[in-house]
Amino acid sequence: MRIARFVVDSDPMFGVVEGESGSEEVAVINGDPFFGKVEVTPVRHKLEDVRLLAPIIPRSKVVGIGRNYADHVKELGNEVPPAPLMFLKPNTSVIGPGDPISLPSFSEEVSYEAELAVVIGRICKDVPIERVDEVVFGYTCANDLTARDVQKTDNQWARAKGFDTSCPLGPWIETELDTEDLAIRGYLDEELKQDGNTGQMIWDVKELVAYVSQAFTLLPGDVILTGTPSGVGTITDGQRYEVEIEGIGALSNPAVRR
Ligand code: MG
Repeated sequence: MRIARFVVDSDPMFGVVEGESGSEEVAVINGDPFFGKVEVTPVRHKLEDVRLLAPIIPRSKVVGIGRNYADHVKELGNEVPPAPLMFLKPNTSVIGPGDPISLPSFSEEVSYEAELAVVIGRICKDVPIERVDEVVFGYTCANDLTARDVQKTDNQWARAKGFDTSCPLGPWIETELDTEDLAIRGYLDEELKQDGNTGQMIWDVKELVAYVSQAFTLLPGDVILTGTPSGVGTITDGQRYEVEIEGIGALSNPAVRR
């Protein structure tokens, strides 16, 4: 099931996206699917007639994982960490499909990073690997935008990874997905820049959720970013980056310097 969040006129709603690519419709859901059963109403809209929003604004946090694809670790001259490397992005960094990435004034080198995002469905802590499926709501595409110059000069990554608009999510949450072998690609102005597969992750989704939950209580709507494959590079004013993940869809955002 593909769960989207969208607006038609004013108030954001959740819906189920149905149909083939190019002719999808959104069936409106009653209430919030994170806190109740998915109850589909008879109200339907053509996908092209709605504006998609970030499918979730995390209740408390986005947890990022750095250096989880060996080729990407190598391209930046880093070492594979002995355990998953964690950082946080605030929920104010989240934007939705098509929303502009506002390049921050303090950075001259903002990089795109195509990533699979895990969306948590229930409160949990110290989740054993074999029970991770019970706490996952679904999966979406993410762009873990990073001020690379600031990441090198600041001791902490809060600013480099957490600035406003640094976490596009979307286009929707796919609730049924086997994440072991999915193509993950990134296109800068339609030119293929990243071409990886989730099978290349050093730590897989289950290992990451279990590991992260040892440090943090996870809440419904929290998001875990699982790292980026190789091919990262700079995005500049006027360019657009699209993240495409097999079985989910595509998330595209333009960059602007104000
Ligand atoms: Mg990343």
